[in-house]
Formats: sequence, C-alpha cells, structure tokens
Amino acid sequence: MSISSKTFIPLCIPEIQGNEWTYIKECLDTGWVSSVGSYVNKFEDDLAAYVGQPCAVATVNGTAAIHTALMTCDVQPDDEVLVSTMTFIAPVNAIRYTGAHPVLVDCEPDYWQMNPEKIVEFFQTQCTYRDGTLINNQTGRKITAIIPVHILGHPVAIEAICDIAKDYNLKVIEDATESLGASYKGQKIGTFGDMACFSFNGNKLITTGGGGMIVTSDEALAHRARHLTTQAKHDALEYIHDEVGYNYRLTNLQAALGVAQLEQINSYIAKKLSIARKYNDALKNISGISPMQESPEADSVFWLYTVYINAEVYGMTARELLHKLHEEQIQTRPL
Ligand SMILES: *Cc1c(COP(=O)(O)O)cnc(C)c1O
Repeated sequence: MSISSKTFIPLCIPEIQGNEWTYIKECLDTGWVSSVGSYVNKFEDDLAAYVGQPCAVATVNGTAAIHTALMTCDVQPDDEVLVSTMTFIAPVNAIRYTGAHPVLVDCEPDYWQMNPEKIVEFFQTQCTYRDGTLINNQTGRKITAIIPVHILGHPVAIEAICDIAKDYNLKVIEDATESLGASYKGQKIGTFGDMACFSFNGNKLITTGGGGMIVTSDEALAHRARHLTTQAKHDALEYIHDEVGYNYRLTNLQAALGVAQLEQINSYIAKKLSIARKYNDALKNISGISPMQESPEADSVFWLYTVYINAEVYGMTARELLHKLHEEQIQTRPL
C-alpha cells in the first residue's frame, strides 16, 4: 500500500456539530463581530459556571491568559516563578514576558505532573524564607508564584501545591489549558489556585479557533485582569489609560464558537475517555510501552493520549516510533 492511499490520522481535530453556525451567523447578521458583544459575556459566564468559579475573563489565547494572570498576581521583573518541566512552552514564555525567570520543577513518575515533594525539597535546601519573602539562595532572586501545569488532561496534585504556596506566601496560577473538565478529589481544576487559565486553541478539548480564559474567585483580581486585557482604558468616553495595557480581549465571533462548543463538552469528554479505554486495551500487552495512568484522586479527561516508551525493552526510541508512525500517516508528538 502506498503512503498516499492511507488515511491520515491527526492528533486532534475540532468537532463542529452543535450551534456553532447558528451563533456565528447571529454575530454576522447583527454586526457584533469584534471585541464587544453578548457572546463574550455569555462565554465568560458559561465557562465560569462550568468550572465553578464566580469570575471569568476571556482572552485572545491561553498564553495571553497566563501572561495576564502573572501581571495580575503582581509578578515583577527579576522575580522567579516555578513551572512544570513537562509542559508545552507557553507558560515558560509568559513568565519571561513579565521579565521574571522560570524555575523548572520536575514531574512525579506516576502521572507525569509537577512533583510537590521536589518543591518542598528545593525550598528547604536551596531557599531562605524570612518575613514573608522567599529567596532563591543561588540567584538571590525572590520567588513569587507557582504555575502548576495540569498536563494531558490529568490534574496536578494541586492541594499539596496550594498548601506549600500558602506556607511560603506564593501565588498559584493553574495552567489548566490542557485539562478543562478534569477534577481533583471531586473538585474541578481551575478552582484551587488564585487564578487559573484555559486555552481554546484548535487542538484543545473545546475550541474558539484561538482563545483563552482566566477564572478566579477574587473579584478584584478579575477586575484588574479585565482592565489589563482591554488596553487599561480607565475612561471609555475620553480614552484615558492609567497604565500599560494589552489588546488581549477575545472577539464576539470567537466567543460565539466557544458558547456552542461548551454546550457539547460532556460528549467530547465521553469520547476522549472511550478513546483512552481503546488504547489502554490495545497496548496493554506490549512490553516497553506504559500507557498514561489516572490517579485514584483524579478524574482525567485524557485530552491527549500519551505513552511512556522504555526504548530498551520496546526496541525502539520514542523518536524512532514517531518517525515510523509518521510514515504510516499517523500523527504523534514527542513530549
Ligand atoms: C495550549 C497550551 C497553552 C496555551 O496555548 P494558546 O495556544 O496560547 O491558547 C498554555 N499552556 C499549555 C500547557 C498548553 O498546552
């Protein structure tokens, strides 16, 4: 069989099967296509209700959401922010946008999420905590926040991380971009930290083409985040701007897509779980391949099905397998 006759199997494709056309047509018919409009507010309200937080602020993408959350949490240039090693690059870039520096925290071996024990060990052996301020002894810089990244649809051990953050007076910004809908001890992720960020990129569980959201229980933080994402406009009539702002607001067109997508989220999650069960079944007897696990404390949404490859046992490295699957028209990606 030639390669061209094989069906290409992509990693992730959006499913547009609900009210997307209806809602977007309404935007087009009424002329409300840009950064003001009822769908932006509705998408914020609907997502806040789904996650179970009172406040939500929509942004142009997930990276902008994280950047805004860091600024809102007062992360300053030359501060340090802890972030997962095992992550897409976006939160690390967002830390650099603020002028702060990332400190990478390794993952635990079972579920591949940020390891709280590594954080405690680092603070106890390499940092000094005095008068509410945590200093990295080696760099002399202040550590001000932690970004635990809930990767691949599975939650971080988020309670432990929030407890550590409280002990050391640090802010927690959950990067929940890959794990919308997942829960930890029965509570939705995105409700544990000071703020949490979501992404609606084309490959995420729900998509707006491009888009993001910050959720928080703190109205003052939400107000400040909204201010920063709308050019820090203090006075809508006279165009007075009271600080450096950003053009980070989601458009009404994109939000209309998001509202329709969110209506279908339960069916998307059910599909992801059924795909994961199929792979678990199919791969269980292949030595050298360890499928992703779900912690008994977690409800994963299995966003991107992932396996760990022990090259010696399996007889091929992950990279070699990636190329082999590529030849078979099956898209995979390394982590
Ligand atoms: C997708 C993603 C983001 C945000 O991505 P955008 O493309 O900017 O929406 C941030 N962090 C992680 C871990 C992601 O996977």
